[in-house]
Amino acid sequence: MPSIKGLNGRFALVCWAANRYTARLESNQSKARTDMKTIRVRITAEELEAKRISDVLERAFEDDGNPVTVYEASPDGKIWAAEILLFDVNPDEAAGIVRDRVGADAFAAPLEAEELPDINWVEKSLEGLKPVRAGRFVIHGAHDRDKVVPGAIGIEIEAALAFGTGHHGTTAGCLEEIDRLLSMREYDRILDLGTGTGVLAIAAALKSRQQVLATDIDPVATTTALENARLNGARHLVQGFTANGMEDRRFQLYGPFDLVIANILARPLMKMAKSIGANMTRTATLVLSGLRIEDGPRILFAYGCQGFILDRRREKDGWLTLTLVRGRKMA
Ligand code: SAH
Repeated sequence: MPSIKGLNGRFALVCWAANRYTARLESNQSKARTDMKTIRVRITAEELEAKRISDVLERAFEDDGNPVTVYEASPDGKIWAAEILLFDVNPDEAAGIVRDRVGADAFAAPLEAEELPDINWVEKSLEGLKPVRAGRFVIHGAHDRDKVVPGAIGIEIEAALAFGTGHHGTTAGCLEEIDRLLSMREYDRILDLGTGTGVLAIAAALKSRQQVLATDIDPVATTTALENARLNGARHLVQGFTANGMEDRRFQLYGPFDLVIANILARPLMKMAKSIGANMTRTATLVLSGLRIEDGPRILFAYGCQGFILDRRREKDGWLTLTLVRGRKMA
């Protein structure tokens, strides 16, 4: 996720950064994890300026995909911070790279660069997280197993190098839709595309007690999802493999799908519209998330070309979750 703004931005950022750690480790197997350096470059300013700087950073580092985030840095909201993570450089080099890339006059605000301690950020960030309720689901860590109230469906997610604990507005939006949709009727073939920790696939499997396919472009996510499925007693219900989008031929063995949940990002989802549409039944339901509010119209247009119309929209923390239907208008 190249840029995640809003209240949950910091958490999402560490998760995404951890995914990048993994990707880089895989592309450079000989390097031990302890050799990896992560440098945080932080620029503080008042709100509008910090948001503008984060947009500048995002554009300047778009091709490399370095994670950028912007968040409130003081309790009174007067100070905001725009941050970017760089890898395998020294703090001074990182500051220089950022200055070179964005141009010396892009902002006057002070810039600090520091090396992040070599700790497992995801594990660290999960330790303090409280259980999240979304629909009938309660997503929690091992330490909060006893917090699942009667009648709720508890999903335990272990700290791992994958995205999806329910704390992000997109995950919560999808969980609420899964709860709503699977309460109304049964589906034959369900896919969680971009599964991350597997949280959505596990939710759908536990709620429906039927098979769900979970795929991700990141092999670490696929493994994590299956491991989490096992932890939640749903391993027999969740199948998974690693694939980029839906072009892979293996989808034909599991599809066509009548329910697909894809919490990715607007840009990849735009590109995938045709292949997602082609792997779904004529009468089908599609939940899309990872979208900013302003992405709505172009997503509706792209999926409209595949015969989908809007059934429901949810907004959470500035993120949009769209439920689309094809071949039927849902109640
Ligand atoms: N489903 C989880 C995770 C969402 S994060 C949740 O709702 O919380 C988005 C996930 O999509 C990441 O795990 C990322 O690796 C995966 N992803 C990104 N691009 C993808 C692509 N082209 N094909 C499949 N998965 C992709």
